[in-house]
Amino acid sequence: MQATLTVLGSGTSMGVPTIGCDCAVCCSLDPRDRRTRPSVMISYRDPHDNARHVLIDTTPDFREQALREKIIQLDAVLYTHTHADHILGIDDLRPLTYHHKPGKMPLYATPRNCEFLRSMFRYIFEPTYKFGGLPQVELHPIEGAVELLGARFEPLTVIHGETPILGFRFGSAAYLTDHSEVPNETLEKLHNLDILFLDALRYKPHPTHSTVERSLKIVEAVKPKRAFFTHICHDLPHEATDASLPPGVRLAFDGMKLEFEI
Ligand SMILES: [Zn+2]
Ligand SMILES: [Zn+2]
Repeated sequence: MQATLTVLGSGTSMGVPTIGCDCAVCCSLDPRDRRTRPSVMISYRDPHDNARHVLIDTTPDFREQALREKIIQLDAVLYTHTHADHILGIDDLRPLTYHHKPGKMPLYATPRNCEFLRSMFRYIFEPTYKFGGLPQVELHPIEGAVELLGARFEPLTVIHGETPILGFRFGSAAYLTDHSEVPNETLEKLHNLDILFLDALRYKPHPTHSTVERSLKIVEAVKPKRAFFTHICHDLPHEATDASLPPGVRLAFDGMKLEFEI
């Protein structure tokens, strides 16, 4: 079945431009150098031919991203991990959760991350809080592949610094957003991909993120038809970096849309 991946955000945790920075990329007029925090949305039609939209992560820029992409419906959210740049937009799910049917909008995360989200956002998840206007969401622990409305999202473990976190494979696409290392057991699940998203923060090494060089090695190892780098900081000007990459490898940018089979 045909699906579309929309890049909601392609930037690193601080976003580009970065507050207080006047470097060439932060001051660039190229819209592709304007990077909100990292997230993608996967859209497809379920077996009853209804449109479905699954979000990966709710960044602090989710409101801006949803308005830009004119999102009017969301069916579920999958979380990769609970760093601030991946979760802080949770409250802006509100208007979309009010239309969600049936019941509350499901949020999927590892059991440990469910616990973290429950304590970080107690006002949302603890029934003793009776504030008005809460997001109508409920947590579901990821304990294997998540079957969602006719599509299958397989969790893949990657190492982010010292922490194992999740990426996801769905059909012929995979999205790995924050990793300093991709373990062999995950590399084995990345074959025969049309689209592979990888973390490529910058050229200089970083303790918790991949670099352009390291991610190019992953591309060489698993040979997707097309690879896209994301979670990009202000060290990489879009046009010049793109021109330096091999064919089939490109920097992602906010608003990019890709077709694939799910
Ligand atoms: Zn991140
Ligand atoms: Zn800058």
